[in-house]
Amino acid sequence: MQRRQFAKLLSAGAATLALNAIPGGAGAKPQVAVTMDDFNLFGETDAEKLENSRAILAALRSRSNLKAAAFICGQRVNSELGKRVLQAWNDAGHTIANHTYSHWYYHRRSVEEFEADILRCEEIIKNYPRFTKRFRFPMLKEGDTAVRRDKLRAFLKERGYKMGYVTIDASDWYVDERLSARLKQNPKADLSGYRQFYLDHIWERAVYYDDLSRRALDRSVKHTLLIHHNLLNKLFLGDLLAMFEHKGWELIDATEAFTDPVFAAEPKILPAGESIIWALAKESGKFDRDLRYPGEDSVYEKAKMDTLGL
Ligand SMILES: [Zn+2]
Repeated sequence: MQRRQFAKLLSAGAATLALNAIPGGAGAKPQVAVTMDDFNLFGETDAEKLENSRAILAALRSRSNLKAAAFICGQRVNSELGKRVLQAWNDAGHTIANHTYSHWYYHRRSVEEFEADILRCEEIIKNYPRFTKRFRFPMLKEGDTAVRRDKLRAFLKERGYKMGYVTIDASDWYVDERLSARLKQNPKADLSGYRQFYLDHIWERAVYYDDLSRRALDRSVKHTLLIHHNLLNKLFLGDLLAMFEHKGWELIDATEAFTDPVFAAEPKILPAGESIIWALAKESGKFDRDLRYPGEDSVYEKAKMDTLGL
């Protein structure tokens, strides 16, 4: 990261990060786990798709055998190839969790339709030994009315599910979209700018959500970073994990992160959703100036990427 960009981050709140204080205190070393959503199988041939997924697994393995949580969108792995990919993730010790079958916006579907879609995904993933009843809403959108929000929460509890909340939300999917478009245009394109943008973007969002956690909850939670099973992470996940370590953050397994009590919180905001830190800050009513809606989206990154010619 360039000095100028780092100075900007400092002024944006990173100055509150003291990395050498006592664990659990206001300046404790932040901890972060990887959670990976959707499982788009990307690549030209089946062999290439499998190989791409293996490259992401290798990046996790290279950081002390780090264990992630995979939030699976059923329709994207409902194939022989999908089964092989899931089996590989299972066998490598990563958690397999539910992200619905169809990846619908809950806001646009009936409660019954959406519940059926959750169970449809469960059918596909339930026999993997690493399957865990943990659920994440597509687009992190949990309901636009109190009735719909609470009905789904009750349904998930009845079925034995816990929430798979994100604490650090980001737009890696958008960086991936633009990187993939560039490669289509020019397979030999220089990707170093995308790499740097991705690292800077995730770091900026990690600092923002960790700072918000310290201010709204008086502590740094065990973070769950949301990223996706995509080409961007095939290329740069290893660099991303190295960056967190270099900045003094501790990489932890997803199962360890989900022991944090923050994941049992039930913020009563509307529309419901976003990062759990965002939602709890919103519920407190004290941080409205710092809370854009939605928390993350391509619109926040587009102009920056345009300017950089990415
Ligand atoms: Zn998703």
